[in-house]
Amino acid sequence: MGPAAWTFNERGTISLERCAQAELDALLVPGLVNAHAHLDLGGADALPAGASFTEWLLGVGGVRQAERDVSEVAASEARGLGRAGVVAVGDVDGSAGRGTEGRRRAGMGGRSYLEIVGVSRDGARSNLVRTLALVDRLGAGRGDLGLSPHAPYSVNADVLGEIARAAAHRRLPLAMHLAETEEETRYLLKGDGPFVGFLDTIGKGAPFARAPGLRPVAYAERMGLLAAGCVVVHGNDLDDTDIACLAQHRTPVVYCHGTHRHFDRPTHRWLDLDAAGVPLALGTDSGLSNRGVDLLAEARRLAADRPELPPALILRAATEGGRRALGLDHGAACFLPGTASDGLLLAGPPGDIESRCGAEVADWVLRGASQVLVTILAGTPVEAPEGACRAFLDTPQGQG
Ligand SMILES: [Zn+2]
Repeated sequence: MGPAAWTFNERGTISLERCAQAELDALLVPGLVNAHAHLDLGGADALPAGASFTEWLLGVGGVRQAERDVSEVAASEARGLGRAGVVAVGDVDGSAGRGTEGRRRAGMGGRSYLEIVGVSRDGARSNLVRTLALVDRLGAGRGDLGLSPHAPYSVNADVLGEIARAAAHRRLPLAMHLAETEEETRYLLKGDGPFVGFLDTIGKGAPFARAPGLRPVAYAERMGLLAAGCVVVHGNDLDDTDIACLAQHRTPVVYCHGTHRHFDRPTHRWLDLDAAGVPLALGTDSGLSNRGVDLLAEARRLAADRPELPPALILRAATEGGRRALGLDHGAACFLPGTASDGLLLAGPPGDIESRCGAEVADWVLRGASQVLVTILAGTPVEAPEGACRAFLDTPQGQG
């Protein structure tokens, strides 16, 4: 049997593409999208979760201050993603453009959200101005940039609205770490808890004079971030009202399961979000809070840890859900004749795959240990091995 191609289009049914030249059994699936990563933190070992999230955050600052060729670190991380089936990444660039340069040099698609941090009003404002100048330097016309106000506790409240307006004006997509911890919710509601000590340690003041008294999602809505299309990264601490608000704005939520486990957080409300119509995507965050940044491994780990989640839902989040969150073209994930462009070949599908339904195929992808044979980006293999796989890719089916 030659390779089989499967797509979410046509309601998840399997379409089989045969290839006479290839002595290879493989399944062609849409390319994976890692919707949240930090390429500029690549290569570093995980930091222990510690006694609190804020303690871990201080450790991240230490990694950033270390002497490293950040552009090359990011490029290397992006190449690693590419070899593991990822065709696009939602990267948060906290390195003044060096992460973006590395991603581009590695040929990795997706979007670089340029990170804005600034606890004080003046600090946040000057960082916004500097970041918009960086957008111009990196080339907004390339359509692969966005802005990322880091988190509610690290960006001044008076400037969040300005960031939302600047993003809308410049047509720059937004992503923000939001509702990540119960401590963050507590800080926004009451102005107390571990973030007070964290901000004291940093010594840059506080992001607001008085706690807004809002949960993170309501806070982001008030600041105009949700109306500006901001992607919510994490969304771990959500109540029913938060979920309804996210659904109303059609706000995508990027879930990072490995990081969730790293911090041993309460069960993520993935199914509630899906039932409410909130678009879901998957990310890995950085290796500082995960076992690595392999998105297929992440999806498999999620399927193993949460057997109640339908495999097709997980795979959809790992592919077209990510494309949607990042605002990428959907056509690139489609394998209808003449349209295929981004995807990956998985080795060794069962011989009767033709007769299996989409849900069974998704189950095989997530429950098995099939290896990525090759990633295909814009119709071109990424570091393709020689031999049969190459022969498949040279066929009309392999090229879409
Ligand atoms: Zn992150």
